[in-house]
Amino acid sequence: MKRTLITALAIVCLFGLAAYIALMNVAKLQDKVFQRAMLAKVSSSRESLYNSDSLDLVFCGSGSPMPDPKRKQACIAVFAGDQFYLIDTGPGSAPRLSNMGVPTGGLKGVLWTHYHSDHIGGIGEVILNSWAGGRKAPLDIWGPAGVEQVVSGFNQAYALEFSYRTAHHGPGIFPADGSRLIPHRVDVPSEQDSVIILDQDGLKITAFLVDHRPIEPALGYRIDYRGRSAIFSGDTVNTPNMVRYGKDVDVMVHEALSTTITGIMAQVMDASGQPNRANILREVPAIHTLPAEAVRTANEANAQLLVFSHIVPPVLNRLMEKMFMRGLDEIRDPATTLLGFDGLHLSLPVGSDKIQVSAINR
Ligand SMILES: [Zn+2]
Ligand SMILES: [Zn+2]
Repeated sequence: MKRTLITALAIVCLFGLAAYIALMNVAKLQDKVFQRAMLAKVSSSRESLYNSDSLDLVFCGSGSPMPDPKRKQACIAVFAGDQFYLIDTGPGSAPRLSNMGVPTGGLKGVLWTHYHSDHIGGIGEVILNSWAGGRKAPLDIWGPAGVEQVVSGFNQAYALEFSYRTAHHGPGIFPADGSRLIPHRVDVPSEQDSVIILDQDGLKITAFLVDHRPIEPALGYRIDYRGRSAIFSGDTVNTPNMVRYGKDVDVMVHEALSTTITGIMAQVMDASGQPNRANILREVPAIHTLPAEAVRTANEANAQLLVFSHIVPPVLNRLMEKMFMRGLDEIRDPATTLLGFDGLHLSLPVGSDKIQVSAINR
């Protein structure tokens, strides 16, 4: 019996080895296997995000400016029926969307929260990616005061690059209009005010002020779609506006910074002769929210699900996850608090109070 098993295993191993050697040496076989893999990738595209009767959030950047191999910089895709918007376009947004199979040709607009590089730096690739995906019209960009300046800078910086694409592939594939950004300045008069920047086909987008001083104004956004809702803090210290505009929201996406971790990092930087980095790490918490503060805000707003995104510093493993989430289970049911990650997909079907949580990994 034992000998039969060993013989069978040896035969399997030999077949495996022969297949591997063939794959590495036979050109036709390589092409065939690659074609199959490509077909599987293309057919697993997330086209259905446009068709579902739900509000869907796909996290395309849950990190911050500190380099994180697992998390790109700020980006969340919002699908409301067939309407697709991006909240922030941090570096890495477009490749992350592409790797997840999210078709970007139907992108209708971008909502910028403020102009730190980790929220805007990926816009050039987002334009190119969605343009190549079939978007023909200029891309609308909403943002606080300063949006005209930033948009004009990007339009200028990418003018040559985009003209090359049209010259090479022709205006049928890359019509010049598709490369342009159109700025829409959002002026919120005071902390007590909000501005509805869009209300069409069941989708309402509301902007409100958050507190990221000295970076001001900085915006948060609330999305309502046929009875389902989500609120996004952008970057902020703990602010009452997340409670004011997040009342009874289905999903609260809140930024968070763990001083438990940055405090130790600052000590290590000091000890290793990097005082600049140590000082930056000590100053960063002054413009962000602690995880426990975000949890209390979510509780006060009665948010059904809290998701941390724009996670500072990078949380690289289970040990750091434990440190980041330390003590939170004492103030909120851990089943209703998620540490965001790239690929997280939340689906909120219309006519229900359910939140379906899944991960897009390709
Ligand atoms: Zn910021
Ligand atoms: Zn940021």
